[in-house]
Amino acid sequence: MTRTAFFSKIINMKFVLATHNQYKKLEFEDLAKTLGVLILDNPVQDEPLETGKTFVENALIKARHTSGFVDTWVMAEDSGLCVPTLGGKPGIYSARFAGSNAQSKDNIIKLQELLQTNDLGEKVYAYYYAIIVLLQHPNDPQPIIEEGIMQGYVTTISQQKFDGFGYDPIFIPSGEKQQLSQLPKEYKQKHSHRKLAFQRVVDKFKMLKN
Ligand code: IMP
Repeated sequence: MTRTAFFSKIINMKFVLATHNQYKKLEFEDLAKTLGVLILDNPVQDEPLETGKTFVENALIKARHTSGFVDTWVMAEDSGLCVPTLGGKPGIYSARFAGSNAQSKDNIIKLQELLQTNDLGEKVYAYYYAIIVLLQHPNDPQPIIEEGIMQGYVTTISQQKFDGFGYDPIFIPSGEKQQLSQLPKEYKQKHSHRKLAFQRVVDKFKMLKN
């Protein structure tokens, strides 16, 4: 019996994760181990267009899309960086802030240019937001929906290194001095927007569905 098949038999919480984002996948797989969840591979190759106006609409679009192809629980997440002084930008457009094929570096440069143009200083209040939805089937009338937030600042100082996920090279969590990309992986596992939302989803699943 494979390792996955073995755990599959003993674990009640088995969720297909509707994402092809490698960073998110790795973070979720690490978190799942601590929360007693088994993450199953997403068998659906194509990704739906994120046409929603809100994080929650986009998360539901992603979850419903994959849910149409599998017969188990599907979990999807939508997330982004929000800068309140910029009206919440980049927000739901975080992944494509500098255009539909933008790399993280392009998005960071565009955001820093915008912040510098507005003369907002070296540290600007911002937060990461994540929403996770869990569906039993595409028409599930009662999806589990939970959110998580990680507060901090974005630095407008130009960067030499663009390592790590998304905006992590310019995001400094509240109470810290280093950017998230420079903090140990365990920091994010404990405090991230994704961790908080996932923990809440698992708690609600145990209470209502298990
Ligand atoms: P989504 O895949 O449409 O939800 O877009 C998520 C985007 O938000 C990512 O591509 C990043 O640009 C940004 N983002 C969300 N969470 C994080 C994080 O933990 N670190 C860095 N960037 C993030």
